[in-house]
Amino acid sequence: MAQTIRVPDPATAPRRPRLTTPIPPERFRALAALAAVAAGRGDIEVTTPFTGATLGAIPHGAPADILAAVDRARDAQRRWAEAPIAARAAVLDRFHARLLDRREEIVDLIQLESGKARRYAFEEIVDTSLVAKHYAAHGPRYLRPRRRRGALPLLTTTVEIRHPVGVVGVIAPWNFPLILSITDALAALLAGNTVVLRPDVQSSFSALWAAELLYECGIPRDVLIVVTGDGAELGPSLVGTVDFVMFTGSTRTGKIIARQAAERLVGYSLELGGKNPMIVLPDADLDAAVDGAVRGCFTGAGQVCVSIERLYLPGASYDRFVRAFVERTRSLRIGAALDFSTDVGTLTTRRQLDTVQTHVDDAVAKGARVLVGGRARPDLGPFFYEPTVLEGVKPGMLAFAEETFGPVVSVYRYDDVEDAIDAANDTRYGLNASVWSRSNRNALRVAGRIRAGSVNVNEAYAATWTATGSPIGGMKESGVGRRHGEEGVLKYTEAQTIATQRFMPLAPPPFLPEPMYVKLMSRVVRLLGRIPGLR
Ligand code: NAD
Repeated sequence: MAQTIRVPDPATAPRRPRLTTPIPPERFRALAALAAVAAGRGDIEVTTPFTGATLGAIPHGAPADILAAVDRARDAQRRWAEAPIAARAAVLDRFHARLLDRREEIVDLIQLESGKARRYAFEEIVDTSLVAKHYAAHGPRYLRPRRRRGALPLLTTTVEIRHPVGVVGVIAPWNFPLILSITDALAALLAGNTVVLRPDVQSSFSALWAAELLYECGIPRDVLIVVTGDGAELGPSLVGTVDFVMFTGSTRTGKIIARQAAERLVGYSLELGGKNPMIVLPDADLDAAVDGAVRGCFTGAGQVCVSIERLYLPGASYDRFVRAFVERTRSLRIGAALDFSTDVGTLTTRRQLDTVQTHVDDAVAKGARVLVGGRARPDLGPFFYEPTVLEGVKPGMLAFAEETFGPVVSVYRYDDVEDAIDAANDTRYGLNASVWSRSNRNALRVAGRIRAGSVNVNEAYAATWTATGSPIGGMKESGVGRRHGEEGVLKYTEAQTIATQRFMPLAPPPFLPEPMYVKLMSRVVRLLGRIPGLR
């Protein structure tokens, strides 16, 4: 299905619109003042990727600020952990409700920092609010002491207790300014930990906004501390002092953090990159799959860790699917607007634009075809890039196996579903996947064979992401550990087993010769092994 598709010429396209920022400068200054940074190193300017205009400035934190914050958080931790868990859950409950009430300002902020379309900025409010509610409602049950069996019934009473690890360091990226700055911290706080959060420079205002709301909901200032500044500069001090590291970002940085954490033998959870596949099975509803692919590939201009970058289509419906997909992609409204008039926003940073451009140019130079998109749109804003569909992408091209993290997807034809499954799994990543079929049985059969931490059936990524009670995360080089659900909070705890022995010790009684004890115990253990449900 090689064809050349005309894309709008930037020269004749409308001039870059001006964007009026609805948030006044003094509001940005008030948020910046919440950062726990000693004066003296100046500020870092934050601009909006929509236009390149300055939003405000955040304090330029130093490693010493991290050390001071961790000290304060450590001092506060015991008091926080001693508060009844119901009180901590109530804070999250208030946060859930007030976040929805206050959504207008934070939606503006998320859009201004990330450059995403308003619909997807709003989704951050929904998701964060759902996670807060989930942990408020179910967290106390996940964390409650649990009775466990001892070796012999009645003789040992065993209980498993969950202690907070202490101070949790959260390092967050820029692509979900609200969700990724604060939802992981919510679970850690509920478990009785204190948190030192280092948000990305580009998304620091959203993180500070969330911290401010949490303070208002009852979180003490020493229990959640935000330190702003450069990640590579502050990261080592944070990883070098906290009791657990929660990192979201690239696989490359994740490996650096894992090495540093391993040196101290502290726990960590890493949510990393992906090269996520979508398989459309021959019996899929094509219209629904096209619609899902458009959302899955181009939400947030593709800067979503779980977004789709590889699309596997059955030979029989390949042409029909690709034609409809290309048409839908071409009709997407791209632009900078703080309202619902656009479908796709901009890439967030110059680095992302360079990566996207390099991946597309490399693919084209090596023989791939651009079916739609394929170029930057400086007429719309400094980092805009058109949603792009590539065909003929092969091993050896950057876009084949490397994460692009932009609005670029490659389409592949398959004749045998087994080949599609093999191709989907042929990657060092294992974050997310999507399978489309009218038969749930067929879809589940394929889903279970894909090595990815989440698989969405008849949806691209939103179904698993919003299932807040179920763990989500990466297999292979896409991560270690999980967020959401029980695993998402238990990882911030240390398990402690307390077992009380009664009546007699677990040792041979003095009146019984050891050979007889061995025989007796062997019988008893064999007998216990036969009692269903006892072991
Ligand atoms: P990155 O690893 O370069 O940066 C992520 C964050 O880590 C940034 O805030 C950065 O300042 C900080 N950082 C950089 N070096 C550090 C160091 N040595 N120590 C501590 N912190 C350091 O990633 P990026 O390219 O900015 O973000 C995009 C990547 O994040 C993509 O690979 C994407 O898939 C991934 N991501 C994953 C998830 C997930 O949940 N799995 C979610 C969002 C993004």
